[in-house]
Amino acid sequence: MKLDNSIAAVVTGGASGLGEGTARAIAATGAKVALFDMNEEKGEAIAKEIGGVFCKVDVTSDEEVAAAFAKARAAHGQERLTVNCAGIATGQKTVSRKRDTGEIRAHDMASFERTVRINLFGTFRVLSQSALGMVSLEPMEDGERGLIVNTASVAAQDGQIGQAAYSASKGGVYAMTLPIARDLAQEGVRVNTILPGIMWTPMMAGMDQKVQDSLAAAIPFPSRLGRPADYASLVLELARNVYINGECIRLDGAIRLAPR
Ligand code: NAD
Repeated sequence: MKLDNSIAAVVTGGASGLGEGTARAIAATGAKVALFDMNEEKGEAIAKEIGGVFCKVDVTSDEEVAAAFAKARAAHGQERLTVNCAGIATGQKTVSRKRDTGEIRAHDMASFERTVRINLFGTFRVLSQSALGMVSLEPMEDGERGLIVNTASVAAQDGQIGQAAYSASKGGVYAMTLPIARDLAQEGVRVNTILPGIMWTPMMAGMDQKVQDSLAAAIPFPSRLGRPADYASLVLELARNVYINGECIRLDGAIRLAPR
């Protein structure tokens, strides 16, 4: 898909972090961007800056998501690209492989359910409402109708102590990628999922400098935390390359290669 002003895009979680970086990068190509987020103040400000549209939405609500798509489509037409970044982090922030954070003993079902409702159900809700619109579009030159990019996490594959709820929510996004991609491939809609590692965004605010430094040092190369620009450039590549479909791609500086 060639991103230019003929393309409409939706980015959830567009008011912060990876979503914000992605919305800015997509807008820089000339494509029209709608930001979906709960954070109205930041979302409106970014949308204004990049010439996009802001849609206030809680991704846990069918009605709010439908209304957000209606607003975005009225402004820009049916989206060809949807990037699911809205999400929350629950569990520990300090990432210790040894410390018991009490997640199991606390048996906090409300927190577990909220995490899954936002990260997994919210992603599916946006994805399915978007796909239903995409399949009605005329195919582009190469036969493609649209692309959906989801955000899971490396926690889907190698979650740490204290991350059961978060890992389960992201594991669901990871696991649903292939069956949905198989289904939508028949309609010319691609579905790919990115598994970020440790990305420096407001989600990680509060992590102290010592922990940041030790995490960066654990990444063999390039020995730094990930950035929204790293994520955004992968989204642009996924858009550009029609031959990538049904993939779950780690974007983590190869943290698994760290010596143990
Ligand atoms: P962030 O906190 O900077 O941004 C998340 C955005 O999602 C916020 O603007 C927030 O308002 C929005 N949001 C949260 N709940 C919402 C809801 N119910 N409805 C609508 N919007 C909602 O976080 P980020 O670091 O940019 O994370 C983006 C995605 O990447 C998340 O899904 C996160 O789980 C995932 N991720 C992040 C990291 C990381 O290290 N930062 C690592 C792996 C995966």
